[in-house]
Amino acid sequence: MVRFEGVSKHYGELTVLDRLNLEVAPTEKVAIIGPSGSGKTTVLRVLMTLEKVDEGIIWVDGESLTHMQRNNQLVPADRAHIRQVRGKVGMVFQHFNLFPHMTALKNCMEAPRTVLGLSRREAKERARELLEMVGLADKLQHYPAQLSGGQKQRVAIARALAMRPKVMLLDEVTSALDPELVGEVLTAIRRMGDEHNLTMLMVTHEMGFAREFADRICFFDEGRIMEQGRPEQILHAPKNERTRRFLQAVL
Ligand code: ATP
Repeated sequence: MVRFEGVSKHYGELTVLDRLNLEVAPTEKVAIIGPSGSGKTTVLRVLMTLEKVDEGIIWVDGESLTHMQRNNQLVPADRAHIRQVRGKVGMVFQHFNLFPHMTALKNCMEAPRTVLGLSRREAKERARELLEMVGLADKLQHYPAQLSGGQKQRVAIARALAMRPKVMLLDEVTSALDPELVGEVLTAIRRMGDEHNLTMLMVTHEMGFAREFADRICFFDEGRIMEQGRPEQILHAPKNERTRRFLQAVL
């Protein structure tokens, strides 16, 4: 469903992704862990086309996000092509990024209306259903400022789902929350994965979250995957010395 082939990203002298290869199967849930600055968030940002890659090819659902076919050759993708492939990818951010002047319902209706061209009624129906799914049926008319952190994050989840993505990216979705609000967000994420058959990539500092949700954990360091495997293997029997040192520091 997602494939990185030799993807590099540099900021000046700094190499943030270093010829990265990563393949994620349909409906697979992959957690990305690793030290600060190792390139974890950059993986999500290039998939959202918030950043351009310098080298390599990214594939989403059989189509290249970075390139397109022309006369049997791969050439750099144009804007229309990027927009079309990018539509398969949704993202939930650490700091929710909700529109403050819109109610929960409106937040979830906006992009389906403007980007997908849904009618008001269709968009409203879809938004209502998703907000019910994340347990916010009684908060449809609330503005973000009237919601708790956990509720805001659940609106953000519903909003991302309203675009019907095939791939969902989660960037530290629980780290801005009070500990007692984490559970409700994790429940919403679990339902999201189960009911929508999503392929998921999540960046997390919470090893408990990674263990519970992921089919596979990738340990990143210096823009590369240093080690990957099933959560119990990576967390309890890491083979790589750097993985071991990182886990000793965070567990
Ligand atoms: P953290 O766990 O701290 O969030 P990370 O592994 O997600 O870290 P990234 O956010 O991917 O790391 O950043 C990787 C490196 O790229 C960091 O050293 C960061 O300072 C640098 N970087 C990120 N964005 C930019 C930018 N727009 N311009 C310059 N450098 C950047």
